[in-house]
Amino acid sequence: MVLVTDALSWLVWPAIVALPLVLTQHHMPELHYSNLFPREWYDMSPRDFSFWGGETTWPSPLGLSLGIGAVVVGQIFMLMYFIFLARPSGQFLAVAAEKKGKGKAGSNAPIGEPGPFVAIQKDGARTYDLHEGLRTHLAQPGGFLMLGAYLIGTWMFGIMPKSYYSFAGGINWVHVAMQLLIQDGAQYLMHQVEHIVKGESDLPVIGKVRWPFNLYAASHKPHHRFTNPRLFDAFDGSELDTFLMIIIPLLITARIVDANVWSYMAFGSLYANWLTLIHSEYHHPWEKIFRVFGLGTASDHHVHHKLYSYNYGHLFM
Ligand SMILES: [Zn+2]
Ligand SMILES: [Zn+2]
Repeated sequence: MVLVTDALSWLVWPAIVALPLVLTQHHMPELHYSNLFPREWYDMSPRDFSFWGGETTWPSPLGLSLGIGAVVVGQIFMLMYFIFLARPSGQFLAVAAEKKGKGKAGSNAPIGEPGPFVAIQKDGARTYDLHEGLRTHLAQPGGFLMLGAYLIGTWMFGIMPKSYYSFAGGINWVHVAMQLLIQDGAQYLMHQVEHIVKGESDLPVIGKVRWPFNLYAASHKPHHRFTNPRLFDAFDGSELDTFLMIIIPLLITARIVDANVWSYMAFGSLYANWLTLIHSEYHHPWEKIFRVFGLGTASDHHVHHKLYSYNYGHLFM
């Protein structure tokens, strides 16, 4: 039984990148992108749209739409894993532990101690209604609008570097890894800045400007109201937080890695879904192995939510 749930859990990772994987594989030619979309809808080499330099051609919205679609497909599989496997298993373990007189599940597991589907924090997972959780997760209008505007704006106005418009080649996993690393590095720095720049910090006063203002309260504090977060709290924060910690790093990452459209898609979906998964209130079966490779786990991020001053990285430790 454990083997089955473990295997099913691991499948969530390829499922997160299902769309770019399926569209670029050659085993089922009828699902290959070249057989699904007219040739004039995409470019097979990097293309500079230089919208601001007088070029009047608009980029085809196909790559953009597939990119947003890839994240949506990834979120659907990730939510299926969480709703039908992780959460029920976690709740089952909690009931079993309570029957044994151990209090809530996880009460015998110190914070950061992995074990599939056991609650991460000592006091157990918060109890909540699944529909309320899903609503919280999906109803973050500010954040989604900003990300949508970023993705659509940078794509359609030709602001993305030219390699991103190329459909040639499949997913380049080295590019995907570089994007994840650079994104997480930039996010780490912005995260540090958001924590450090508080009204009460002792940074120098510059001129007459009352510096620093309380950036933390204006940006990141709302996300930190969860000291025992659940998966559905991942996107719950302020717009300024999204801008500083996600949009700015995305702008930097795109300038550094010359990825094609498929690698961009795989990166986007892995990034969005991994960020969600590390907020889970239960341990995931892959975390023991992730830990060996320094990859971010839910317990790592729970330590940050609980204790504030550790684990500023999200995907890499
Ligand atoms: Zn968080
Ligand atoms: Zn933080």
